Amino acid sequence: MTTSVTRAGAFHPASALDYLPLAQLRELQLARLQAIVTRAYGRVTLFRDRLDQRGLRPEQLTNLTHCAELPFTEKADLRDTYPFGLFASPLSEVVRLHSSSGTTGKPIVVAYTQADVDVWSSVMVRSFAACGISHEDVIQNAYGYGLFTGGLGAHYGAEALGAAVIPISGGNTDRQIMVLRDFGVTAICCTPSYFVHLIERAREMGIDLRTLPLRVGVFGAEPWTDAMRARIHADSNIRAHDIYGLSEIIGPGVGIECGELSGLHIFEDHFYPEIVDPVSGRPLPDGEEGELVLTTLSKQAMPMIRYRTHDMTALLPEPCACGRTLRRIRRITRRSDDMIILRGVNVYPGQVESALLAVEGTLPHYQIVLTRKKGLDQMEVQVEVTAEVFGDTVGALETLHERLSAAIETVLGLHVEVRLVEPHTIERSIGKAKRVIDRRQEGD
Ligand SMILES: [Zn+2]
Repeated sequence: MTTSVTRAGAFHPASALDYLPLAQLRELQLARLQAIVTRAYGRVTLFRDRLDQRGLRPEQLTNLTHCAELPFTEKADLRDTYPFGLFASPLSEVVRLHSSSGTTGKPIVVAYTQADVDVWSSVMVRSFAACGISHEDVIQNAYGYGLFTGGLGAHYGAEALGAAVIPISGGNTDRQIMVLRDFGVTAICCTPSYFVHLIERAREMGIDLRTLPLRVGVFGAEPWTDAMRARIHADSNIRAHDIYGLSEIIGPGVGIECGELSGLHIFEDHFYPEIVDPVSGRPLPDGEEGELVLTTLSKQAMPMIRYRTHDMTALLPEPCACGRTLRRIRRITRRSDDMIILRGVNVYPGQVESALLAVEGTLPHYQIVLTRKKGLDQMEVQVEVTAEVFGDTVGALETLHERLSAAIETVLGLHVEVRLVEPHTIERSIGKAKRVIDRRQEGD
């Protein structure tokens, strides 16, 4: 059996759509946009009311740029219409429901018809293929299975690819490592922070991941930086790809980093991306940073029109060296709603991560603790240091402390407290890492 190999890895027939000539792609997008807006207008009361208020009709959409005239959809709309208010299909046609609890307020519910599940599998197949993963691979799927879309999304895609998928779900770290070693796993899906935990635990068990067949990681569900990627590569010798997705749109598989590892291709034939100014909502040209807004072009059960993701990024105008015609977004390292305003300065957790991981002697485990003292916001960055450094002289610790403080101050433009803590002090997460602990309401 022969397989043709491209620069990005094994070629899968489903990936042909990644290379559509641009004119054909735009034509397909417009036809699908017209169809989805017509569907939503005819079946979703909230959307129809908003279009009517603006005096807009679906048939007025004759150009992709007209998309910018449509009203936004916000997460609050999903909560306000909980559970089924935004469905465009009757339950009899729905084959799957997922729900995310969120940390605040009511949960949201998302629905899929069989056609939606098929699209989801196909974009996951294209995602895996873009990472150079094929039917030859053994994929350990450590995303949580259940109401969270990560587990089942990756699972169906891995099966459709023809890979051998291990549905281990999240948690039980020692067993994860045993399976990694004993089953000849070549690819793993999980959050990047959980993989960092796996590396660490494996080392304690006397297993060096660099000696295993594992070669690719598909990491998502939380923002992470290139500095984290470099750490992961050094400690495990795998190539780590960033995957992007959100339940409101479909789940994982909205975008993926190809072998070039320089931005994430959006599967534009199914998800139409726009970048807008997060304050004014005004569309921004390719290349400018703003908030990512996505429209599902094919989703039947729950079309999302101009959904505001709150993820801050830019659409990269240059073509990718891999040859895909799908536009790329810059890696998302911050969200418009995770901004911390500290003494008048805007701070993002991703900036802190980049700064502290650039310094040797640190471990990729950190936490930002916000407190309030006498009405003033305080920020402390807690970072674990290696056992060697921790066991070293007081002088060595002080030097590291100074270097970290300076590195963070350079990036943020203000001085924050840095506390070096022993390995294993910061709580490990099996899913999304909790990077910011906000205790400002408890202060005086
Ligand atoms: Zn590419």
